[in-house]
Amino acid sequence: MVISGGNKGGQRPSAALFGGAFNPLHNGHIALAGEIEKRLSISEVIFLPTGQPPHKKSPEVSCAERSHMVDLAIAGRPGWRTMDIECRLPGPSLTARTLESLSIDPPPFFVMGEDAFADFMEWGGPGIILARSHLVIVNRPGSASPKARRTLLTILREAGSSLGEGDIPDLRELRGKGVVEWVAALPAFKTTVRLVTIDTVEVSSTGLRAAIASGEPQSWGHLLPEAVKSYIVEKGLYRKPDFRPALPT
Ligand code: ATP
Repeated sequence: MVISGGNKGGQRPSAALFGGAFNPLHNGHIALAGEIEKRLSISEVIFLPTGQPPHKKSPEVSCAERSHMVDLAIAGRPGWRTMDIECRLPGPSLTARTLESLSIDPPPFFVMGEDAFADFMEWGGPGIILARSHLVIVNRPGSASPKARRTLLTILREAGSSLGEGDIPDLRELRGKGVVEWVAALPAFKTTVRLVTIDTVEVSSTGLRAAIASGEPQSWGHLLPEAVKSYIVEKGLYRKPDFRPALPT
């Protein structure tokens, strides 16, 4: 599949790929995509739901359903779309394999939170991802991990960057006061890695699933788009088998 188009003067990639389990999609994902769209002046945001993640337990909610929830959440937003390619490829989803099967010209931004980036070297084929996309790492509430710093240092070293240990303090410090974007070239891959600092929303799919399993929609509904909330309620997703809504007294 070939995706191209619209990049300003050939200087900037025009698509942002945003991969995730989206199990379920929540307001943190929407806020992240919105900020990236604003900051990087891209023309397209592509949500890429993970099929069967290699590094996480398989989600009980199918890829098709998670992808449908993304569709519901982003309906009516021009330039935002879902690509369900990983739902259709057999076997565990590997971002490297997905990027190889898509031919995106110019290379897209591949967007992720700092927590996901910390594990980047274990994703399988990190060199393929670095050669085929520009990495964008956003801050995530509560995740200032030393592992993310080590991952960044490894990437810079393998890419032949002149930046080293002394140039890369803790990622939070690197983002610095008022610094909204930090970019480093990756010469060996002809791409870049950048830290973008956004206004985040403190929510995770894990926390949300726990809240849905045991609570009423009033306690968790504000954490995700209305259409996704309605779908979850209608289908009874993420409920414990013995969950019964409280009866009005
Ligand atoms: P889980 O709790 O199951 O790990 P999650 O909330 O991290 O799920 P994912 O679908 O795994 O959601 O995340 C997709 C991407 O979005 C990851 O790169 C993750 O770092 C990023 N992300 C998720 N929630 C936030 C948030 N609140 N703020 C910033 N980034 C986020």
